[in-house]
Amino acid sequence: MEKVDLSVVIPIYNEEENLPILYEKLKDVLEKIGKSYEIIFVNDGSTDRSWEIIKEFSLKDPHVVGVNFRKNFGQTAAMSAGFETAKGDIIITMDGDLQNDPEDIPRLLELIEEGYDIVSGWRKDRKDAFLSRTLPSRIANWLISKVTGVHLHDYGCSLKAYRSEVAKNLDFYGEMHRFLPALSKAIGAKVTEIPVKHHPRIYGKSKYGISRTFKVLLDLILVKFLLDYRTKPLRILGGSGAVLLLLGTAVLLYLVGVKLFLGQDIGNRPLLIFGTLFFLSGIQLISTGIVAELITRTYYESQGKRPYIIREIIRNQKLETVNRG
Ligand code: UDP
Ligand code: MG
Repeated sequence: MEKVDLSVVIPIYNEEENLPILYEKLKDVLEKIGKSYEIIFVNDGSTDRSWEIIKEFSLKDPHVVGVNFRKNFGQTAAMSAGFETAKGDIIITMDGDLQNDPEDIPRLLELIEEGYDIVSGWRKDRKDAFLSRTLPSRIANWLISKVTGVHLHDYGCSLKAYRSEVAKNLDFYGEMHRFLPALSKAIGAKVTEIPVKHHPRIYGKSKYGISRTFKVLLDLILVKFLLDYRTKPLRILGGSGAVLLLLGTAVLLYLVGVKLFLGQDIGNRPLLIFGTLFFLSGIQLISTGIVAELITRTYYESQGKRPYIIREIIRNQKLETVNRG
């Protein structure tokens, strides 16, 4: 298996307008760096012409590897397939929508050469909708930083560079790609962050947003329960647990207020039963969710299962059909 210096991994879901521009820009930057490289486009079940375009690039350019999923498995699954396919000593991940700038790559590489294992981009001047994206992600970033003890400003930025020994040791699925720096700290990786450019999306639409969250929630309660339970138990059990816990806490706080400030007796109120019930079952559901999540991971890992299925790969200008998952 021949080695290359750099592998650039890009998940692609309906980016037909962006692909040609991205490819040109990226090639320019990579040629200038002067190391051997490969560009891995992972087509995550696009319904537009993205795969046709990737196919064309990879059949004419030996630097391009095209990986085609059987259906849409999500950005994290696509990244994980890219990591598995990558032959580079250093793996760079980025988005396929031109929001990340290939021109930042040399700076990420400098820090890897200085000895860091992971260099994470920080979209200091983020060009996404404030209320639906930037604000929720600031809150999430603050929380992740507190919880994991790995302090970055911007976990969600896709533009990152990894030393491949570190990247290949990480198992991830669901929405976990943003936790890779934190997970890798557990295996002793040196992690750092640098500000990178961020551009507004010009072509195509973001696949995420507040409306998507609502849709996901509705789906989740109805049809998808059984389906999703397989891969996302923490989200379903933990999510409903969190709602119950919040409700229960609110009810109990209200009752404490009634007792303290109004001096009324609360012992015989039906609300007390509901509050206590919600509170306790909330905690129970969250714990069950965590256990289920661990079991799911063990299930996948023990069978070497992957959270995606590949239909075909084009490498060295040759098409192989794989159907591997
Ligand atoms: N993406 C993907 N599968 C999905 C959703 C997104 O491969 O199910 C890709 C998408 O094509 C893009 C990257 O992941 O290259 C980031 O997606 P997007 O730009 O929609 O996210 P945002 O920048 O809004 O966070
Ligand atoms: Mg984007």
